[in-house]
Parts: sequence; C-alpha cells; structure tokens
Amino acid sequence: MPTTSGSPFGLALRRALLITLYGAVILVPLGLTIGVVKPGAQGRLVVFSDALGFAALSLIALQVIASGRWASTTRVFGLRPVLHLHRQAGKASLMLVIAHVAILMLDDPRRLRLFDVPDAPGRARAGTIAVLALVGIAVTSIWRAKLGMRFEHWRASHLALTGVVIAASFVHVIWVRAYTSLADERDVVLALVIAAAAALFWARVAHPYRTALKPYRVVAVRRERGGAVTLELEADGHDGLRFGAGQFARLRPAHAPYSLDDHPFTLSSSAAHPEHPSFTVKALGDFTTAVADLRPGDEILVDGPHGEAVRDGDRRRGRILLAAGIGITPAMSVLRTAAERGSTKPFLLLYGSRQWADITFREELAALGRRLPNLQVVHALSRAEPGWPGERGRVGEQLLRRYAPRDIARWSALICGPAAMVAEASVTLALLGMPMRAIQAEGFE
Ligand SMILES: Cc1cc2nc3c(=O)[nH]c(=O)nc-3n(C[C@H](O)[C@H](O)[C@H](O)COP(=O)(O)OP(=O)(O)OC[C@H]3O[C@@H](n4cnc5c(N)ncnc54)[C@H](O)[C@@H]3O)c2cc1C
Repeated sequence: MPTTSGSPFGLALRRALLITLYGAVILVPLGLTIGVVKPGAQGRLVVFSDALGFAALSLIALQVIASGRWASTTRVFGLRPVLHLHRQAGKASLMLVIAHVAILMLDDPRRLRLFDVPDAPGRARAGTIAVLALVGIAVTSIWRAKLGMRFEHWRASHLALTGVVIAASFVHVIWVRAYTSLADERDVVLALVIAAAAALFWARVAHPYRTALKPYRVVAVRRERGGAVTLELEADGHDGLRFGAGQFARLRPAHAPYSLDDHPFTLSSSAAHPEHPSFTVKALGDFTTAVADLRPGDEILVDGPHGEAVRDGDRRRGRILLAAGIGITPAMSVLRTAAERGSTKPFLLLYGSRQWADITFREELAALGRRLPNLQVVHALSRAEPGWPGERGRVGEQLLRRYAPRDIARWSALICGPAAMVAEASVTLALLGMPMRAIQAEGFE
C-alpha cells in the first residue's frame, strides 16, 4: 500500500541526517568551549562547567527547533519517539544545568553569594532566572496531572517558560565575560538563539497562517457507536491533505488560527481521498465534546499531516492491526485505503471494546470484510454481556498468541491504544518473531 513515508532507503537517509544534525548542534558548541577557551585565571574546572552550561543551552534550543510540532521530524520518526526524546532531552538539560552550577560552587564556594538576587550582578540574575524557569518546566511537565493543571494551561506555560529560559540563558552567556571575549562563542550562541526564535515564529505564526489559507468545510457530523463522532470534511478551494494511513492532523477552529488550543486526531478516512479527510473523535473533554456541535457548512482548520504513515506494507505478507477503543482510527484508515485500492493482502484486526454495543465502526468493519477478502476481525470485549460467544478481556499477549499467524516474521503490525497495551503488544509481537522494524505503534497520550 503506497504511503507518504517513502522508500525505506529514503526514510533511513532522512533519519541519519536528522540524527547527525542533532548531534552537531550539541557537540559543536561543546567542542568549541572546551577546545577554544583558554582556562587562564578561571581554571579548567570553570571551563568544564561552562561547557556543560553551553551543552544545556544547545539542547534546550534544539527542543524548540526539533519538537513534536514539526512534521519534518514526526513524519520521519513518529510522534511517540520524538516526544520521548523531547522529555529525555529536557531532563538531560536540567541535569547539565545543575552540574554547571554545582561545579562553579564547588570550585569557589564564595560564588554562593551570586544567588543573592538583589545584590548579584546581572549575569548571575539572568542565570538564576533561567534555572528557575527550567525547574518550572520540569515540575509542571512531570506533575501536570497531580497539580491539576489543564492541558491547555500547561501548554501555554510550557511555551512561556521556554521563552524565558532561552532569553535569560542568552543574556547570561553574553554577559559572562569569558565568552564575550570570544567572537566564535558569541556567534554560536547567537545562531542557536536566533534559530530557536525563528522556529517558534514558524510554528506559532507563519505555519498557522499557511494553514488558515487552506480551510476545510464540514460536510457531515455522524454519531458513531462508543460515544464517538465522525467529522467528514471537504477541502475548500484547494487539493486537500495528502496523507498516509496512520498519520494525524491538528484541528483548530477557523476563527482562531493562532490559538494555542489545537488538538491532534488521526485521520480515519481513506488516504485515496485527500480532498475528503475525516476524523473520528471520542468525547473526553471540552474540545472533543464541542466537535459534536459542528454543523455542515462550518469551517475548520486542519494542520497536517503529522506523524509517521504506516510503512510500505507491500513488502510484508500481511498486516496485524491491534486497536483498543478510539485507537481504531488509524486501523480504519488502513483498511478503508486498502479496500479502495482492491488489496488482497491478509489483514488481522484484533479490536478491544467494552461491550458489543460500544464497538465503533462495527457495521462498517463487517461490510469491509466483503471488500477485503483476506480480512479477519476479532472483537475482544472487556465487559461482555453473559452469553457473548467471542473473546473476552483486553487486547494483549494472550489474544495475540492465539491468533498470530504462523509466518508472523513476514507480517507487519500497527498498534494503537493505551500505553500499557502498546508496550505489551510490542513485546509479544517481537517475542513471536516479528522484526522490530515491522512494528509501528501510536498512542493518544
Ligand atoms: C497523535 C494523536 C492522535 C490522536 N487521535 C485521536 C483520534 O483519532 N480520536 C480521538 O478521539 N482522540 C485522538 N487523540 C486524543 C485527542 O487529541 C484528545 O483526546 C483531545 O485533544 C482532548 O482534548 P479535550 O479538550 O477534549 O480534552 P481535555 O480534557 O482538555 O484533555 C484530555 C486529555 O487529552 C490530552 N490532550 C488534551 N489536549 C491535547 C492536545 N492539544 N494535544 C495532545 N493531547 C491533548 C491530555 O492528556 C489531556 O489530559 C489523539 C491524540 C494524539 C496525541
């Protein structure tokens, strides 16, 4: 099945390029600091500490330049790995900053008075502000739920604090005398900060502007089983959204193109019809509930496609789709696309729902069985009524072991559901002999 993910070679090349770029952005400033700065009166320990501070700033700037907002990174690596890297890089930059400060204090404990904000010099004040903002990012990101913070408030504060960290670190580095004397250093810091500011501008102003130029019109709002709603859209005066099954887009009200409050949804429609994308949304909070109130004719903005499309399945013998609840949307796109393209490939869908009445797309899946001659659908119900003759429980190891094809090593898999299910299913598939590169997973968290 053709997808927008391109050839395996092209994908590997783009991955290698992005990884090299990532490494260079971190290592070049670090190498410059250690290699070029002469310790002089400051001593080697101070130079080492500054190198750590520099690496932290590079890492932070890189988080803005290559975050989960960028289709160029999520299309190549998938959203989950990019977000995972983002979180780990955030923790690493905090550790580097702590090490930077601790080494300076150990080298000369009199520097502790630099924390006395009213009397401290400007460069120390800027440094303290940057550290506090970074700690603020860590605390609100790790304990958002415990702090009772709404997602949109967290995101706004995340963005604001990131701006403070970058601006304050910039001022800090520029005011620290050792660096102002070295043009190379200053240029690298400047380049990093400008790149991060440009990335922010692109993500929050230029890209939303471009998205607003290609609006979509609501054609139908259809209620589905399981408390979901399908939003059928139509490109309004343009060619639509060229996407691959498995990709997602961010939806935003047409009247608020620059709003921070956009929401990601996987395309559930066939990739063969870019001009008619559709999304199936389960009501969970304010935005997902409001979707049901949209009416035919309303305008909506669609920013995408993002995320990794299902990889080239033509090389594999068949495809296993594992879905739980509303995690059925990418599998639905895969099956609808395959049906339109007249595919005869074997598909095995293991689909977990609560009860028979809750199964989103139940009737359509049965109908798809007539268009896809080698589709097998297995429903597993976690709260099955007495007398249910089918599978009970969740989609996991036991179900997979029972239904896995003998030649599983030649199949591929797409998993979409809660994190625990994704982890269990990935491990089981690998244990059963499926190569890791043939397993794709997406979660909605
Ligand atoms: C890649 C991806 C694909 C998704 N595909 C689908 C889909 O096909 N169908 C579907 O029903 N849901 C999907 N979701 C989940 C959907 O985005 C959230 O349920 C929705 O954004 C919740 O918004 P709310 O205002 O209604 O709820 P809220 O009460 O504001 O949020 C509920 C929870 O949803 C998450 N969330 C909220 N806003 C966002 C946001 N802007 N970005 C990411 N997470 C957010 C947070 O964890 C939050 O705690 C997907 C999520 C991701 C990350």
